[in-house]
Amino acid sequence: MKSVLTIGEILVEIMATEKGDGFLEPINLIGPFPSGAPAIFIDQAAKFGQPAAIIGCVGADDFGRVNLDRLRRDGVDVEGVRIDPEMATGSAFVRYRPDGSRAFVYNIKHSAAGAISLDSAAKAVLNRGDHLHVMGTALSSPNIVEVILAAAEAIKARGGTISFDPNLRPEILNLPGLREACETLFRRCDLFLPSGAELYLFTKAKEEKATVREILDRGVRAIVHKRGADGASYYDSKARLTQAGFEVKEVDPTGAGDCFGATFVSCWLRNMPPAQCLAYAAASGALAVTRQGPMEGAASQAELDAFLASHSKRP
Ligand code: ATP
Ligand code: MG
Repeated sequence: MKSVLTIGEILVEIMATEKGDGFLEPINLIGPFPSGAPAIFIDQAAKFGQPAAIIGCVGADDFGRVNLDRLRRDGVDVEGVRIDPEMATGSAFVRYRPDGSRAFVYNIKHSAAGAISLDSAAKAVLNRGDHLHVMGTALSSPNIVEVILAAAEAIKARGGTISFDPNLRPEILNLPGLREACETLFRRCDLFLPSGAELYLFTKAKEEKATVREILDRGVRAIVHKRGADGASYYDSKARLTQAGFEVKEVDPTGAGDCFGATFVSCWLRNMPPAQCLAYAAASGALAVTRQGPMEGAASQAELDAFLASHSKRP
């Protein structure tokens, strides 16, 4: 089976237990939960049964251990995760605002998560990878961009494939160098996995049909457009498919896109028909939102089979 590699932030997530406007007074928190978009992605890929590895960096602290223990338990190869003796593991504190939006306090760039390098252990992991998945969030610091672009070249040079999930909102694309790095990954990817308005990030066209055509004309083999509870669509040169969202009770939306993407990529690497890839992925995204904690809703293929057997699609 083809192996999947990702590179990027491994974090703990600590969340407020009640909705509110900020972190300006003492509040009840729950966590640490294992997190970081690339880490969630690779955990779901491994749980689905795909050979999976991550290149990253954590501190020599309990926040790092919480993540490494979980990733190892779920079958992720963590040989390429460096343990930095001086820096603390990255973190994200999240509070849901009364209107349902999220307010984050991140410590990523100046934590161990920002100190990723292509050392000899990471190179060995890279040499074993058939497919590279890139999350736009991982491109927020120049040294990590360098590592990811080098990995993308290495994977492509030996006939491997690349998937890219911008995982950004258009307003944060203005960080120095980020848009350029995203554009490069967009041009190099085989599979493009935008969410909502991210579909239009790299095209002149701003209408769905023309945008899809423009993206496919630029050499992307397939597009999977995520639309939250409304489901997702798939496009390639031959097919256009839509998958409705499954009816579930949303407890915590964080991690849906990462789980969806990991399951889609795993199915795609197994050459499943696109409709089956979409169904598995939508089940994976739906299950993810039913659990509190970004990685807690990751599911095995057997669990997804059981979910698909028992859930009806939205009309
Ligand atoms: P994230 O917020 O993690 O970055 P995303 O914006 O990349 O996520 P979403 O579109 O929110 O991705 O979710 C990915 C997929 O998961 C959706 O296309 C859908 O199939 C499924 N999904 C997400 N939220 C729900 C929900 N509330 N109910 C059912 N399915 C959902
Ligand atoms: Mg979302």
